[in-house]
Amino acid sequence: MSEKWKKATLCVQGGYEAHNGGPRVLPIYQSTTYKYDSSEELAKLFDLDVDGHMYTRISNPTVSAVEKKIADLEGGVGAMMTSSGQAASLISVLNIASEGDNFLMMGNLYGGTTNLFLVTMKRMGIEARVINEAMSDEEILSHIDSRTRLIFGETIANPSLEVFDFDRFVPLAHKAGLPLVIDNTFATPILCNPIALGADIVVHSTTKYMDGHAMVVGGVIVDSGNFDWEKDGRYPELTEPDESYHGVIYTKQFGRAAYITKARTQLMRDLGSTPQPMAAFLLNIGLETLDLRIRKHSENALRVASYLSTRTDLIESVSYPGLESSPEHDKAMKYLEGGMASGVVSFSMKGGRESAMKFMDSLKMAAIVVHVADARTCVLNPASTTHRQLSDEMLREAGIDPGFVRLSVGIEDVDDILCDIKEALDKCL
Ligand SMILES: *Cc1c(COP(=O)(O)O)cnc(C)c1O
Repeated sequence: MSEKWKKATLCVQGGYEAHNGGPRVLPIYQSTTYKYDSSEELAKLFDLDVDGHMYTRISNPTVSAVEKKIADLEGGVGAMMTSSGQAASLISVLNIASEGDNFLMMGNLYGGTTNLFLVTMKRMGIEARVINEAMSDEEILSHIDSRTRLIFGETIANPSLEVFDFDRFVPLAHKAGLPLVIDNTFATPILCNPIALGADIVVHSTTKYMDGHAMVVGGVIVDSGNFDWEKDGRYPELTEPDESYHGVIYTKQFGRAAYITKARTQLMRDLGSTPQPMAAFLLNIGLETLDLRIRKHSENALRVASYLSTRTDLIESVSYPGLESSPEHDKAMKYLEGGMASGVVSFSMKGGRESAMKFMDSLKMAAIVVHVADARTCVLNPASTTHRQLSDEMLREAGIDPGFVRLSVGIEDVDDILCDIKEALDKCL
């Protein structure tokens, strides 16, 4: 039944089914462990011969239900929740890359991901090579060698809001024998299903629109099940025996779910970036209204972006893929449901960092917070906060200038949002 449901229905009904007389709402299984009648049953679990929960660091019924909902929303064969979006990005790469390997990342990734890939992973001996859309195919291919493991991009980049060009990069990745990993945080599964567009692995910071209320930090990895790991021997961790699991060969034993099974049984077991059952419960409440919210966010943001575009007295440029004048608009129409581009609008104040701060300080309803993508309208100046660790050159690479404001448009009445913005802008005159 659930396979046929549309996304709005999956948001509400997916993942959990109440049995006769059972709780109507997904229960919080606040238990670290699970009881079995015989040691043999437990041994089978450890052998990965049967499904079941053994310890909450690895899996938990509340978490599993939400994972199922998200896997169905993205059209994947399986999903694994993590304690944060950062942990999801880390594990998505570590699952198929080891010391001495490298991978390609788009230059416009979220600042936290950029630090993780270029600084911390470098210390682990894994090299991220930066590519971007302006490069020719030959130039991009010249970054790929026998130790290259994947290509990583964002559907709607945070905060440059560039839209990923699936029709160009999917064939390019696959021709090179590489899986495409897509961070779909800003688009959400409602506006875009990267798997349907050819991506192989999808990650999310569920902290953003999926939760939608700024309550819980979390992440998730979804496996399409479509990538052929066995094809050219590039992924021995999936196609050769895992010594830490008495020689299991993931592609042999788990078929299409090889990648996501290894992520859980090996990396989640070892790294322990586990989501709490309570976090999964709260995320599930957010997910129930995701379809409704993301439409409203997109509708409000388009109104706000249109208004900001008229304020050429103070604003240098507005970027929002939903605007017809945006260079990203064609891709938004092609890849995002109904051309809806979610709630984040970026713009640059003419007076640089100083006027950006004046504008932000003058807002009454919209709050200055280190967050985006929740129900309440909020603002941030990336240059002085989330992207503070990046050099000017890296900032430019990420599409950010010092007067750049990232406005996360909420689901309040749009007239109130517009009024707040207008009054704050007028104070900058
Ligand atoms: C916030 C964010 C992350 C990191 O997620 P956390 O949940 O904060 O760890 C990753 N990617 C994108 C696009 C984000 O916006």
